[in-house]
Amino acid sequence: MPTLVMKFGGTSVATLDRIRRAAKRVGVEVSKGYDVIVIVSAMSGETNKLVGYVNETSPLYDAREYDAIVSSGENVTAGLMALTLQEMDVPARSWQGWQVPVRTNDAHAAARIEEIPTDNINGKFGEGMKVAIVAGFQGIGPDGRITTLGRGGSDTTAVAFAAAFGAERCDIYTDVDGVYTTDPRITDKARKLDKISFEEMLELASLGAKVLQTRSVELAMRYKVKLRVLSSFEEQSDEAGTLVCEEEEVMENRPVSGIAFSRDESKMTLVSVADRPGIAAAIFGPLSDAGVNVDMIIQNIAEEGRTDMTFSCPIDQVKRAEQALNGAKEAGDINYHDLVADTEVAKISAVGIGMRSQSGVAAKMFKTLSDEGVNIKVIATSEIKISVLVDRKYMELAVQALHDAFELEKA
Ligand code: ADP
Ligand code: ASP
Ligand code: MG
Repeated sequence: MPTLVMKFGGTSVATLDRIRRAAKRVGVEVSKGYDVIVIVSAMSGETNKLVGYVNETSPLYDAREYDAIVSSGENVTAGLMALTLQEMDVPARSWQGWQVPVRTNDAHAAARIEEIPTDNINGKFGEGMKVAIVAGFQGIGPDGRITTLGRGGSDTTAVAFAAAFGAERCDIYTDVDGVYTTDPRITDKARKLDKISFEEMLELASLGAKVLQTRSVELAMRYKVKLRVLSSFEEQSDEAGTLVCEEEEVMENRPVSGIAFSRDESKMTLVSVADRPGIAAAIFGPLSDAGVNVDMIIQNIAEEGRTDMTFSCPIDQVKRAEQALNGAKEAGDINYHDLVADTEVAKISAVGIGMRSQSGVAAKMFKTLSDEGVNIKVIATSEIKISVLVDRKYMELAVQALHDAFELEKA
């Protein structure tokens, strides 16, 4: 039998009624002759609630216990989906990650999938089971403890299963009907894309478009998984949604394909550090050891042997970063006059493979922001993206202005 992977995100399983709707869609695919692997998220809001419990109990928590707690939301929806399908007379059963087992590395809270054995589930398909429901977002580490794949990780579970089982397609059902030129919640001028290249989707995801987890796009690209994003609220059809595919399959050719943003950024500046060989390593080594995801970095011109070093990181890692840097200062490894955190910034990025061949994109982006009176605090570029850090209060304005400037509403 051909296999299909269907993933339902949090809003698509938010109530028993929605689980029933999702189960009906699964039933349709079963009736077409597919063996279906369903990956479920926790009911919407559930994971946030669990993360809140963890933070309130222990701000610098033990990540193994964090995983034990925050993975639990998916267990509930997996079981409920199985029961719902059974009520519809569709032979189905649920699996938690460890039962498959979804083997991951030991990077708790941000684990990577290393192996998914297929014999267990395929054995059940062989016995007449039609739907395997797997709790997304979770796995089991080398030490036998539960791991999670990072926020949004059920997308990655889905793509990894599609790769492991050689699925015909991996359908990601969510609360929007596809991938848009920017988050449709920010502007109603956002336009749905029929197709988007893996590379652009990878950039958009890693720069904040949460419609797909970054790692899921990486896996789809590597294992050539046919990946589709579509709405669980609208009518099903073979053309629905957005196909994430090879660059050659995308017809549009424009410098910018989409605008991504990330609200929860912060900018940290080490004021007056000694400018000597090894200083960057002495600063960013301890940050990396503390698990801080440093993104943009700027080092200012040195004067009298001292310089300012600025970097950005997610806002919820500021405490960790401060702790790591203060520790390095106390140990005598670095020396700075002050550590200033600006937690009121957001990152906005323009993404497009057309940037490789068309110049002037950066200039247009900077001009647009300047016309809106938005000050740029940090800039970073790569082959197919330009990112800027701006005051968070201008984030929506900036996204809308850039969306207009690059005429993204026009097909
Ligand atoms: P799920 O719970 O189904 O995994 P998510 O909330 O993780 O859903 O992702 C879907 C959301 O992603 C949408 O509701 C939308 O607000 C947001 N989003 C951000 N950028 C984009 C984009 N470019 N296209 C579509 N959705 C986007
Ligand atoms: N429930 C997890 C989260 O909210 C995983 C997911 O939904 O993809 O991050
Ligand atoms: Mg998601």
